[in-house]
Amino acid sequence: MKVPRGFRFGGVHCGLKPQRRDLALVVSDHPAAAAGVFTRNKAAAAPVQDARSRVPAEGMRAIVANSGNANALTGPGGLDDVSVIRSAVADALGIQKRAVLTASTGVIGARLPAMKVLTALPVLVEQLGDHADLAAEAILTTDTRPKMAAREVVLGGKVAVISAICKGSGMLAPQLATCLCLVVTDAAVAPGALQEALARAVERTLNMVTVDGEMSTNDTVYLLANGLAGNPRIQGPGPDLERLQTALADLLGEMARAMAADGEGATRMVEVVVEGAPTDEIAAHCARAIASSPLVKASLFGADPNWGRVLATVGARAGARDWPVDPFRARVTIQGVTVFADGAPAEIDREALRDRMRETRVDVLVELEGGAARAVAWGCDLSYDYVKINADYTSLIVQHADGGVARDDRVANYSPTFKRTLLAEALKYIAAFSGQVAVIKYGGAAMVKEGLKEAFAEDVALLKKVGLKPVVVHGGAPEITRTLEKLGERSEFVDGLRVTDAQALPVVEMVLTGKVNQELVALLNARNAGAVGLSGKDGRLLRARKAVHESGRDLGYVGEIVEVNRGFLKMFLDGGYVPVISPIGLADDGSSLSINADEVAAALAVALGAEKLLHLTDVAGILDSPDGELVRQLTAADLTRRLEAGAITGGMKWKAHSILTALRGGVRRAHVLDGRQPHTVIAELFTDRGVGSLVTLE
Ligand code: ADP
Ligand code: MG
Repeated sequence: MKVPRGFRFGGVHCGLKPQRRDLALVVSDHPAAAAGVFTRNKAAAAPVQDARSRVPAEGMRAIVANSGNANALTGPGGLDDVSVIRSAVADALGIQKRAVLTASTGVIGARLPAMKVLTALPVLVEQLGDHADLAAEAILTTDTRPKMAAREVVLGGKVAVISAICKGSGMLAPQLATCLCLVVTDAAVAPGALQEALARAVERTLNMVTVDGEMSTNDTVYLLANGLAGNPRIQGPGPDLERLQTALADLLGEMARAMAADGEGATRMVEVVVEGAPTDEIAAHCARAIASSPLVKASLFGADPNWGRVLATVGARAGARDWPVDPFRARVTIQGVTVFADGAPAEIDREALRDRMRETRVDVLVELEGGAARAVAWGCDLSYDYVKINADYTSLIVQHADGGVARDDRVANYSPTFKRTLLAEALKYIAAFSGQVAVIKYGGAAMVKEGLKEAFAEDVALLKKVGLKPVVVHGGAPEITRTLEKLGERSEFVDGLRVTDAQALPVVEMVLTGKVNQELVALLNARNAGAVGLSGKDGRLLRARKAVHESGRDLGYVGEIVEVNRGFLKMFLDGGYVPVISPIGLADDGSSLSINADEVAAALAVALGAEKLLHLTDVAGILDSPDGELVRQLTAADLTRRLEAGAITGGMKWKAHSILTALRGGVRRAHVLDGRQPHTVIAELFTDRGVGSLVTLE
């Protein structure tokens, strides 16, 4: 992201949250004009109380913002904590205390352990630089992704940059949506004019976002302007202030949409446009009311073009406030399709429209024919997950003795209803799966974090204990590449396959069979899973021959499977063991051949008559293009079509082939799952709503 001159950013973990970054610092190397817009909630948090009387102002130098703790409703100590933090930041940066602003987001009602912030300051100050991404990460709470963007604007012949980082909806507790937005620019602007530009831009953007209609105790938007762009200082209204405000509104509009799309539990974003209203205020009210109506939001989740609920909301507001708005004369358009006009429902192809409403963004347009005012609001759908998150979340928050907070996710802490549902679902599946073979390919790309490997081992151990017969096949490409690099050897891939020469082969074998395999076996057996480590050479499990690539290129010691020794493997399964297999085959001349683990998994699944084949990898599943959207369910024919269209490439191509082989060989279901998420195997097998992509023959 482009950053304006003279600003530096940092973001670290100071211990307010268990693991993730939770402390951000934004510093201007020159005194900056500052503006701020704050929540109107009367239960405002301490940092808001501290700052709102101090801006707009000149001479600001730093904003320190934390997540994990809102410092709201914590008693008189809350303001002391703000003061201590401001002094410490001022000392660390060698600036005045009055030049420091603060913002907080997170749990309400828990005293902010300021010591943690103070202790982390030296590292944070040391880190300051071009790290807007780290700062953006450090202010997140239940957001699923960082939000940042920048714009350029020409003011008095000079190019100024405006950058923003922001976090959206969702706090740990209770269920309010918080917006923190830190905006910086190198434009030269007087504080009063800056405040006006910010307030007007926020009015049409961040104020038009609604996730759950709640106003938080902590909403804060800051704008610092340090003047380094060298434009003639903007003192008040005029074309330059207009330009600045337009660019700012454009930037904050992008932030608003990003927040709506990432609302708690959201599966899609909605943009509601109301046109033809008698006044701006009525237009804004109607747009916001539609975007925050639980009924409208629930119909969005169900991809239902329910214009009735849209007009009912408009009519209700108009009636309650006696606005000159006539819903009967309105036209409603959803995804560009007119669904209501001239006082009556329009003829539509309902199924086609429903399909379009399943996209990640839905556009609703309401034309009122009652004036010329227009407003846009952004929101999201209301999903099962919103209720789950907010019904179960608060009971999961625990506070540690040192002041930090964390989520205690153990099922014991959830509501009785949740536990009943979970158990009922799980037991049903456990009964159905008992005795079945499931081949699980654990991809190298997903085997990166220790915690993930442990969660995987737990899952496999558990599956085995409830009577499923897991067989694990693993990859190890990244680890092999790293080891080869250490030995000064380059890795070359043709079509996702490693070119394996005589020097590389022993390294490949050592890493797969000697290291990755042994580690997995150890993790599994630490959980009493009865794991047995095997390479394809053991018991002639995988007889292979040298593979010839379709390009005619010699890939060296790369093989394809000729035969699987089914009886050997069955022996382990019948004995109650979990085979863990490294993808090394045995050639007839006794040499080793490296085989793509995806192919091995398919061959074993077919040979064993497995019910399921699971591929755990480093993407959400099969995507509609290499960086596109997840395809949740498809048939073998769909998959073949996608392969032929070139939409599936690289490593995923081998998984697609593996899945097709398995399905044609009698395996009932094949899945591609996101191995970067903990416990995906369990989530897939034991819940009604699967995760990742499911492929079936028909
Ligand atoms: P693994 O170690 O799990 O076998 P690979 O790197 O071999 O992982 O294969 C997964 C990769 O396939 C993904 O990281 C992605 O870059 C690539 N890929 C290419 N096309 C697609 C697609 N349509 N959907 C998903 N992933 C794809
Ligand atoms: Mg692969």
